[in-house]
Amino acid sequence: MKAKKKVAEKGNADSQQPGRPLKFKVDYDAGGGAGVSIALLIASRKCYECRQNDIEPSVAQSAPTIQVKRISQHCFKTADYLLPDTPLKEAVFRVLLSKRNRAISAEEISADLAKRWGQSINRREVSAGVIGRLLEDSPYYHTLTKP
Ligand SMILES: [Zn+2]
Repeated sequence: MKAKKKVAEKGNADSQQPGRPLKFKVDYDAGGGAGVSIALLIASRKCYECRQNDIEPSVAQSAPTIQVKRISQHCFKTADYLLPDTPLKEAVFRVLLSKRNRAISAEEISADLAKRWGQSINRREVSAGVIGRLLEDSPYYHTLTKP
């Protein structure tokens, strides 16, 4: 699956121009081939309170956008949504969900994490370069150039 997705991603990489940063968003179709419900993956990032109301089979069938909407309206404000010890890959995923999965650049994600984590960021590498490489290597993200 990873190899197949790479081809699709690289398709428009050639047309990328310097000075126009790549933007990223979660690819809702990424898990399809592997039988993974992306809605379920996203729903598992909802807060404890919201998850209490979920019934797994119906969440798996739901539109990912419904789960993202809930997170962007509620769960991302909870204290433990993005703890400073969250692995970077997970943190980036959660930042995108909190922004309702609109395409944003690695710079914006980096700035968001720096703002959230403040002092506790000292010993962590959350630069845009690191985040950009992480996202480009993952099959779960679409890359877009600025319009
Ligand atoms: Zn919630």
